[in-house]
Order: sequence, then structure tokens, then C-alpha cells
Amino acid sequence: MTTSHTPKKSLGQNFLHDARYIERIVQAIDPRPGDRVVEIGPGQGALTLPLLRRHGALTVIEFDRDLVGPLADMAAPVGQLEIIHRDVLQVDLTALAGGGRIKLAGNLPYNISSPILFHTLDHAAAIRDMVFMLQKEVVDRMGAAPGSKVYGRLSVMLQAYCQVQPLFVVPPGAFRPAPKVDSAVVRLVPRDPATIGIADRDRFAHVVRAAFGQRRKTLRNALRDVCTPEQFEAAGVSADDRAEQVDVAGFVRLANA
Ligand code: SAM
Repeated sequence: MTTSHTPKKSLGQNFLHDARYIERIVQAIDPRPGDRVVEIGPGQGALTLPLLRRHGALTVIEFDRDLVGPLADMAAPVGQLEIIHRDVLQVDLTALAGGGRIKLAGNLPYNISSPILFHTLDHAAAIRDMVFMLQKEVVDRMGAAPGSKVYGRLSVMLQAYCQVQPLFVVPPGAFRPAPKVDSAVVRLVPRDPATIGIADRDRFAHVVRAAFGQRRKTLRNALRDVCTPEQFEAAGVSADDRAEQVDVAGFVRLANA
């Protein structure tokens, strides 16, 4: 694609140019015949073009109007590209899946990576799997275990709804312009809703948010207005613990209690 496009910092535009990492990401996405693949933030097409060559058809969601025309031109000789020119946070991914399940992929705009992850959780039942590149620091948080310094709301919410599989690290030099931090690729596989065991998603999200909102406090204090002593008792979770000590299953029991 033309290089005349000036990257927009406000849209988290760091374009991937290292062919080795592009190939590794496409291999990780691994589209199979019959898969409906949706890419978030195609940008200048670093992943789009190889995905189209391999898979023949692709849907992309891109917010930057300036990139839409060049993407369409680039894709026309290669395969069928459906371009949705919208903010991904406004896209109903369940409706897009049309009763099936989509494969989601993308080198995400880092400035809104967490909102995008939470948005996908709202549509997890319509997603087969996701392969995303994000800041390495975010991937570390997504996969963190209880007791780790970086274990937090993102870890609990992601791990409750998905298997989190960190794949590999990508250095700043693989992008133009180079970001200031390392990046990492992660695969997320939504769990079967029947096995997750969360009775009320909103309640679960509320408990986790409140617990980590004051992560230095004991749960008794952090969840003073949210959980009663009887609920701690029923869940088998100690009110003397802090949020970072409670595993995902503990939060599920507490929210269900
Ligand atoms: N996939 C390309 C690559 O790897 O070179 C571009 C990745 S760049 C990190 C993120 C892309 O997401 C940009 O193309 C940007 O315009 C797009 N983007 C930013 N915010 C968006 C939003 N809210 N919805 C959809 N796309 C967005």
C-alpha cells in the first residue's frame, strides 16, 4: 500500500512491517476452510493481504476513513474483502457472526486494547478464537496467576471467559513507527458458556471490579457494600484476603453466592 499515509497516534497506528513476524501471526491465526475471519484494525494491510491470499475472504473493521479506499484497492485483485468502516467498540460482533462463530484477529490499537478485550467478552459466545497483538505488559496481565503483582481485573475477567495462551514477543523494531514498548501475541479461546459457571455476568463483573478497585484493602473492606459475611462464608473465600490472592474460581463462587 502507499506509504503516503501519516500514522495517527490517536488511533494507535504502529504498522507492522517485519515479514517474519507477519508470517508467524498469520500462522497463529491459522484460518481453516469455512472459517469466517474478522480482522480488527487492518491499517495498511500488513496482516490483511497475507490472510486474504491464504483464505480468499476476510472481513475487516477499520475506523480510519483514510485507510478504507487504499485497503479496498489493495485487496481487489487478491480476494473478497468486506470493509466495515466503524469503531470496533460499536460493532455488534454477535450479529456479525450471524448465528455462527467468527475467528477474530488483529494487531490492536494499543490505546484502546483493554476496552476491545472487554467488548469481545460481551460477544464471547459468537467467537471461536482470537489472536491479538497487544503491549507485552497487557498480555502479561491477561495471563497472570493469583499472587502475581500484575494479577488484576483483566486477568480474572479474561481467564473466566477464555483460555489465555501467550504465544511470542514482538520487538518495537518490527513496527513503523516503532512503539516504545515490547509487544506480544496472544491466543484467546472462549470457554463453553456451560462450563464457566457464572450465574450472573453483571454481578460477576461488579464483584471483580470492586475487589480490584481497592486492591490493597482486604476483601471485607473492598467489598463492604457488595458481599455479606455470609456470602464470603458460602463461597469459601476469606474476607481477610486481598483481591490479588483470590483465584478465578473463588471470584465466581463469591459472585454466585
Ligand atoms: N494491522 C495493521 C498492522 O499490523 O500494521 C495496523 C495495526 S495498528 C496497531 C491499529 C489499527 O487499528 C490502525 O489501523 C487503526 O486505524 C485501527 N483502529 C484504531 N482504533 C480503532 C477502532 N476504534 N476501531 C477500529 N479500528 C481502529
